[in-house]
Amino acid sequence: MTDSKKSLNFIEHIIEEDLGTTHKKEELRFRFPPEPNGYLHVGHASSICLNFGLGERYNAPVNLRFDDTNPAKEEKEYVDAIKRDVEWLGYTWDKECYASDYFQQLYDWAILLIKEGKAYIDSQSSDAIAQQKGTPTEPGVESPYRNRSVEENLSLFEGMKNGEFNEGEHVLRAKIDMASSNMLMRDPIMYRVIKKDHHRTGSDWCIYPMYDWTHGQSDYLEQVTHSLCTLEFLPHRELYNWFLDQLYDNTSIRPKQREFARRNLSHTVVSKRKLLKLVEEEIVSGWDDPRMPTISGMRRRGYPPAAIRNFADTVGIAKRENLVDVSLLEFHVRDELNKTSPRIMAVVNPLKLVITNYPEDKEEWLEAENNPEDESAGSRKVPFTRELYIEKEDFKEEANKKFFRLKLGGEVRLKNGYIIKAESCTKDENGAITEVQCTYDELSKSGSGTPESLRKVKGTLHWVSTKHAFEAEVRIYDRLFADENPDGHKDKDFMEFVNPDSLQVIKGFVEPSVKNAKPGDQFQFQRKGYFNVDIDSTNEKLIFNRTVPLRDSWAKIKE
Ligand code: ATP
Ligand code: MG
Repeated sequence: MTDSKKSLNFIEHIIEEDLGTTHKKEELRFRFPPEPNGYLHVGHASSICLNFGLGERYNAPVNLRFDDTNPAKEEKEYVDAIKRDVEWLGYTWDKECYASDYFQQLYDWAILLIKEGKAYIDSQSSDAIAQQKGTPTEPGVESPYRNRSVEENLSLFEGMKNGEFNEGEHVLRAKIDMASSNMLMRDPIMYRVIKKDHHRTGSDWCIYPMYDWTHGQSDYLEQVTHSLCTLEFLPHRELYNWFLDQLYDNTSIRPKQREFARRNLSHTVVSKRKLLKLVEEEIVSGWDDPRMPTISGMRRRGYPPAAIRNFADTVGIAKRENLVDVSLLEFHVRDELNKTSPRIMAVVNPLKLVITNYPEDKEEWLEAENNPEDESAGSRKVPFTRELYIEKEDFKEEANKKFFRLKLGGEVRLKNGYIIKAESCTKDENGAITEVQCTYDELSKSGSGTPESLRKVKGTLHWVSTKHAFEAEVRIYDRLFADENPDGHKDKDFMEFVNPDSLQVIKGFVEPSVKNAKPGDQFQFQRKGYFNVDIDSTNEKLIFNRTVPLRDSWAKIKE
């Protein structure tokens, strides 16, 4: 998937340098480390593509590591969903690891630090600890418990582990430097008491290690060479290294933390916490709602995994955060689906059309190509009759020259069929057009080779036979947020920008060839866009999601 001739990104430059100095190629190992506290989103997809992409480029293993240190927020449901999503994106991990598998080792190492006088039990409230932290310009204040004896620290730590204390009574802190210019180095907390069962370790533990104490040591235990994380962890790097300094044995691989910018996508939010809010407040139907920027949402919407990988590859990784327009992702979705989707005719907003000179009981099955981009896709037959549906928007009583669709007195070709001419129309009491009457030229049938069939008319319309078409529910999605950067307003909450019209459910008609379509099947509805069959769909009731409209607005942006 990764083109080795492509220019290197800055992480690859770092690796190349390391290969000449500190690391051997066969030692390289990467990891993707999600916390199982929600579903993965498009930002995680970038991180997955980065790490697994490096694995492919260097032929190196990549671990899937669950950073499961907070039983209050984590669940097995999320572990399973994450595994499904990574696999669906097309990647295979080497080892499936869990930070919780290292709880004993981390505990033993913490004891080592206590014994060396590098960690202590603080018995102050979390408020008091926070107050003593100082500010970036003022040093912090040392805890009155900072100089407890090793014996006392050991016995209190054991008491914490044995469940003798309540949450918040004591914490274990690293003893580093309360005056450090890096606030994270001011005696960071390593352990806290959480009296909750863990989805994997059950009630074995009631103390849980903090992120900083867990992450680097997990990398070390797994012998990960390059631990890549997002930019907000840059100040954590010093602490990452400090912990390793205390434990590193000078012979094994010493992991390196390096940072890259988070992926932000326009018209959405990429934060599990915020996505959870959309789910909880029922703005969407669930984590896999097709409007969600989650991997499961994109899958349900019909985004092919290759499109997501190509998108990640095109955008690459950066050292600085920026907002990537969602239309670039949609461009890649179209690009993939154009190659793979069979074409069908479906009318989303039906208007009845009657061909008055076509015999009432006549029925023809016309030859239609399945995919002009792919000859091997073959063809199918579509039924043509006197009464058809066309799109409402494809007919106007009067229109100017630029309207290449049907107007009174004007001609169009019906795709794969005949040239027709609109003669009259019927309206209801409100003046809305309910039916169009037209005539057809019997000799103009597509592919028949007659001079009439070769006659050029400006417009071609798709259609379905009213007698043969199947009714289907069509779900048309728009952007979930009306604002380009809903998260980027200081004075306004992102929830204020939710687009109230992001879902439109309409009744459409599809040609009979798709009668047996199954959830996940994808089609191009000619002239409309790419659609897939939703997981809610049944044999009795077909439901289609609009994956993406046909119009390629990104091409215009690029020009
Ligand atoms: P969120 O803020 O959505 O909760 P997170 O960073 O807490 O995300 P984790 O499960 O901890 O989520 O992240 C797993 C990996 O994915 C980390 O290496 C993290 O840096 C990376 N990651 C998370 N969000 C993004 C993003 N928007 N762009 C790129 N990488 C990301
Ligand atoms: Mg996190």
